[in-house]
Amino acid sequence: MTRVFNFGAGPAMLPTAVMEKAQQEFLNYAGMGASVIEISHRSAEFDQVINEADALLTELANIPDNYKILYVHGGAQMQFSAVPMNLINRLDARKAAYIETGNFAKVAAKEAARYGDINIAASSEASDYDCIPDFDVSGVDADTSYIHLTSNNTIYGTRWQQFPNTGDIPLVADMTSELLSREIDISQFGIIFAGLQKNLGPAGLACVIVREDLLGLAIPETPNLLNYKTYADKHSLANTNNTFAIYMMKLVLEWLKEQGGVDAIEAKNDSKAALLYDVVDNSDFYLGTAQSAHRSVMNVTFNLANDELLGKFLSEALESGLYALKGHRNVGGVRASIYNAMPREGCQTLADFMLNFEKTNG
Ligand SMILES: *Cc1c(COP(=O)(O)O)cnc(C)c1O
Repeated sequence: MTRVFNFGAGPAMLPTAVMEKAQQEFLNYAGMGASVIEISHRSAEFDQVINEADALLTELANIPDNYKILYVHGGAQMQFSAVPMNLINRLDARKAAYIETGNFAKVAAKEAARYGDINIAASSEASDYDCIPDFDVSGVDADTSYIHLTSNNTIYGTRWQQFPNTGDIPLVADMTSELLSREIDISQFGIIFAGLQKNLGPAGLACVIVREDLLGLAIPETPNLLNYKTYADKHSLANTNNTFAIYMMKLVLEWLKEQGGVDAIEAKNDSKAALLYDVVDNSDFYLGTAQSAHRSVMNVTFNLANDELLGKFLSEALESGLYALKGHRNVGGVRASIYNAMPREGCQTLADFMLNFEKTNG
């Protein structure tokens, strides 16, 4: 069996060792004669799975004591609704500020507007989201309940290199495409959320890290199963949660710990991205789509001179075992998503392919 190098943006590849472990214990989890997806979410065995996931995430992300880890139904975009429902009522003005750095930020702001008064505090839409815009909290009204940003812009290939200090206003970050790919000071944030399917596990579930003092503020209309307090009070088991996704995430976290943790994977990720950006930077053939000071380490985006060349690039790449490199329809071109699970060898193979393709077609 050959596995491709999978550059898909999400659902994305998972470490082979994790897939093999899941396969190996799929029919018979912990000697129970049943699969982990066939046992009660309230069993002692599953309790151990979720406790280990919590402990590993706390250790790997260095989460302070005053934060709770929640596993919330519905993936990342469900949090676009849950965040305003849980937090916009923090202050009577029911205001929130959104920093628009791409499509997901824009969709999040639009969804939040159902629940309150949303201000776009900064935007890079005018330059097709090729950068992170300047932002200064002094331009945000003091009665703003929270400020939302997208830490890594999966579609456009940009990221916040540093996060803004928002003073007393809680900062909320959508970290779907980069949680645990680089060291982050969790205490800078009120809420962090991430859909699992980029760096953490299968799709359909979000991991939410929330500061405890922000629980219990939800607007009354909030569905019980979108209220973060319900999840905090019931250890994310108020109803039957996605036990398989939580189990897979636990395996991914174990794998990450074996890799040396977040600072070790960050160094690997930086050098993987550099392999690709070096080719782009040393060529007039490949055209980077993000400003270099704002580039993502997870999603490398570039284009070719015309659609014909692009089509040829993508089809020859696929023949070489380089899968899912087509850019998002909003940007076009090529996008190489190189999350934690992408081995360096995959990036090296792509970089070599790019050099060869340029030689024959440049
Ligand atoms: C992929 C992605 C999403 C969407 O996730 P869903 O789980 O499909 O809702 C949201 N935000 C960011 C930053 C993403 O990369």
